[in-house]
Amino acid sequence: MLSDVNDRNGYLNKTFSCSCGRVHKTSLKSINLEKGAARALAAQIISDGYRCPLIVADRNTWSAAGGFIEPELKKAGITYRLHILPGEEIHPDE
Ligand SMILES: [Zn+2]
Repeated sequence: MLSDVNDRNGYLNKTFSCSCGRVHKTSLKSINLEKGAARALAAQIISDGYRCPLIVADRNTWSAAGGFIEPELKKAGITYRLHILPGEEIHPDE
């Protein structure tokens, strides 16, 4: 479990033993939870070197942010795939 969001960069591209008793691995290059993160997505994708990202969002997030993310990605020339998670409320379970 990632219990302290301030330590999140310590989890990038690493394997770690978790308090749940399992070993987890992430290949994430960056995490941005700051205000305005969605608007900075295109620049982050380019900075991280992704060429054809898969964007995963729940319906509420996409309806709130998709309207300005899509034009930003198009303007930046980023080809992407989109997966909208089904359901009204999404809860992580490992
Ligand atoms: Zn765990």
